[in-house]
Amino acid sequence: MKIGILALQGDFDKHRLILEQLDLEPSLVRYPSDLNHVSGLIIPGGESTTMTKLMTRGGFYKYITSFANTNPVLGTCAGLIMMSSQAKDKRIKTLGLLDLDVERNACGRQIHSICVPLNVNINGKSQPTEATFIRAPKIVRCGPNVNVLATFNGSPCAVQSGLHLGLSFHPELNGVTIFHEFAFKKSVALKEERIHAA
Ligand code: GLN
Repeated sequence: MKIGILALQGDFDKHRLILEQLDLEPSLVRYPSDLNHVSGLIIPGGESTTMTKLMTRGGFYKYITSFANTNPVLGTCAGLIMMSSQAKDKRIKTLGLLDLDVERNACGRQIHSICVPLNVNINGKSQPTEATFIRAPKIVRCGPNVNVLATFNGSPCAVQSGLHLGLSFHPELNGVTIFHEFAFKKSVALKEERIHAA
């Protein structure tokens, strides 16, 4: 199965290594038409103001939102900001894929980056993992259909809603595969089940 990685800006290459570990085929998405050839999308970390500019220039918004109606999207850090409903920053145009609001850079500057142990609730069981936060956004509002999979300092930092997963940290920097596995392998299996049942 081919998974797209939005490769306009940011740390997209590390996600490639995680997908390869899961036997998923990475495919860089540089143009909206590249979405026609993938079954899921990763929006990586980076800088959401720059991503907004590049996504606007490339005409990505309407293609990603329609892709996300039927395909899973995983956003990490700046990717989560792009997936949110509101970033409370007028320079950011969000995609509104997740019913939540974020506050950018709530965890301080680059120098305040941290790697912490985290417990994640995935598939009904709690699993220990590690999370690296780099100028991370804080989720300040979650809608009723958003499931919180993990919290950090009392705020949600890993959330799932429908087919989509948003993380305020970078699992790809710790070689953590569970989120990509959950976002793509599990949700695609569920989607196939639904198609067969219909
Ligand atoms: N601070 C960045 C932003 O606002 C996100 C940082 C990251 O992706 N590590 O877009």
